[in-house]
Amino acid sequence: MEKTLKSGLQVKTLGRCMASFCPEPATMVATFISSHYTPEPWGYCGGHVASVFVDDESYERRRVGGSLRRRSGYEIRETNETEAAELAWEHGAEERWKAEGRIGEYRRITELHAADTVDGMLVDAWTAGACVALHDALSEKNRERWLAMTTAQQCEVAVHLTMGGR
Ligand SMILES: [Zn+2]
Repeated sequence: MEKTLKSGLQVKTLGRCMASFCPEPATMVATFISSHYTPEPWGYCGGHVASVFVDDESYERRRVGGSLRRRSGYEIRETNETEAAELAWEHGAEERWKAEGRIGEYRRITELHAADTVDGMLVDAWTAGACVALHDALSEKNRERWLAMTTAQQCEVAVHLTMGGR
């Protein structure tokens, strides 16, 4: 899944490189150069900046479509301070979720759009999103009560309330 950070930098979830299936954190920024519109800057790992963005000759020589891009058509730079801070936050998400307990598991499922089991119960991204929305909106007292429930109860209450049921 792709994600646009507040600075406008586009990366894969968890602040990863935009190249397909790359698990590396993004550390560099490539922006298409256009006089017609303002393209979003894309985050890449150092390895892919070197292998994807090639000189004109290599670009012309490529045989089949593929993922090569003409380096001269892009501005390639290191992340600025704002982008680096945002990426560090994204890169630290897994650890934050782990430290947070069950609500962290819901955040993880929501962010990665991937169903997973929570205490033995399969929770989809939509339901997990309802749990996160409810958790973050509850008062401290009600949050404690909700957190004390079983996973099944938490999901049921969250879906019921966020759907507007009363
Ligand atoms: Zn990469």
